[in-house]
Amino acid sequence: MRMLDLIERKKAGLPHTPEELAFVARAAAEGGVPDYQLSSWLMAVRFQGMTPEEAAALTRAMAASGKRLALRGRGPIVDKHSTGGVGDGVSLALAPLAAAAGLKVPMMSGRGLGHTGGTLDKLESIRGFRVQLAPGRIKRQLRDIGVCLFGQSADLAPADRRLYALRDATGTVDSIPLIVSSILSKKLAEDLDTLVMDVKVGPGAIFSEPERSRELARHLVLTARRLGLGCAALLTRMEEPLGRAVGNAIEVRQAIEVLRGGGPEDFIEVLGALGGWMLFLGGLARDWREGAERVEKLRRSGAGLAKFRDIVRLQGGDVRCVDDPDKHLPLSRLSTDVKAARDGWLSSLDAREVGRLAVRLGAGRETMEDRLDYGAGVFLFKKRGDRVRRGEAIARVYAADAGRLKAGARDLAAIARIKTKPFKVPPVILATVR
Ligand code: URA
Repeated sequence: MRMLDLIERKKAGLPHTPEELAFVARAAAEGGVPDYQLSSWLMAVRFQGMTPEEAAALTRAMAASGKRLALRGRGPIVDKHSTGGVGDGVSLALAPLAAAAGLKVPMMSGRGLGHTGGTLDKLESIRGFRVQLAPGRIKRQLRDIGVCLFGQSADLAPADRRLYALRDATGTVDSIPLIVSSILSKKLAEDLDTLVMDVKVGPGAIFSEPERSRELARHLVLTARRLGLGCAALLTRMEEPLGRAVGNAIEVRQAIEVLRGGGPEDFIEVLGALGGWMLFLGGLARDWREGAERVEKLRRSGAGLAKFRDIVRLQGGDVRCVDDPDKHLPLSRLSTDVKAARDGWLSSLDAREVGRLAVRLGAGRETMEDRLDYGAGVFLFKKRGDRVRRGEAIARVYAADAGRLKAGARDLAAIARIKTKPFKVPPVILATVR
């Protein structure tokens, strides 16, 4: 088989056979085909698309390109995955809560890139916390406390590593079959029973158009089912950041506050619904609402916080941050408040723009080589629809140096839009796809 023939075939809009897709996945994992040919093929897929059968075959082949975690047989194994957003630190609170409810949760997470944050970076803002764990260690931790938060190892779906890096550099991220195969190949290799997806919609998401996000959710659920993986997808709004915190340590603080029974409404709503679906699909609740009630009880009882403490302890982190985050989590020395320019109602705080601004403050990275400032970020006093008075603080910006701080505050003031009339903010959960 020759890669050039496969490029020609896809360019002409013809479907691939499973054998051809296995060839591509192997070539991506083992390096037998140059980057330029893989990139060219990715672009052909980006424009010609794939049939559901092709997407499933590619997913299977990418999952088979490396090792599997082989976790099955240890209770209902359920994970949640988000397509990426701003202020989306839900995994930090959800993983311990779902485990406290009795699920096994091997939560494989990613790093932030561009305007979106990553759970691994947030966790590493806890002094000593380790996210690169050997498979044996993951299995032991799942057995002992039912939950583990870790990064993708080099031998798990290696085809995705190379293809994703090429997509990022060639403008081919926004292809539904490529996104589906990228996400699900890693989940298949994790050996899950069930996956709950959070598909973001809005300017901070991969697709800003609700229809494209809905299509992505449908394809994720259908392809997962074809591959024997139970799956539901929630479509959630990413017009403004989720919750009130954007950054790394600042999002861990917020997650701890949530696990103590407090926290922002929209964050808790998304957390409850995702947790509810995890419990329902994992067989521990009769429907998702019952699951969500259970998650809420565990959140209020402190059972989720106790589980979070176990995770931090077993993964080498400083557990003092759980009980006294103000003292033991980093927060930049310098801060300034961004104030409302006039009276009215906050109408927009574009998630993508806030995410980009957080990157410039030092909380995120433009390239995988950038170093993070764990203490940098933004705290939102106001959310969309809130009443604001002229001179009142909308947000507080944190940065390590005065130049970044000043630029960040200026940019945030430019992003915040204020309307003179009140308006209704739509619910954060738009729909569920099953
Ligand atoms: N997340 C992934 O893991 N892959 C994609 O292609 C998009 C989001």
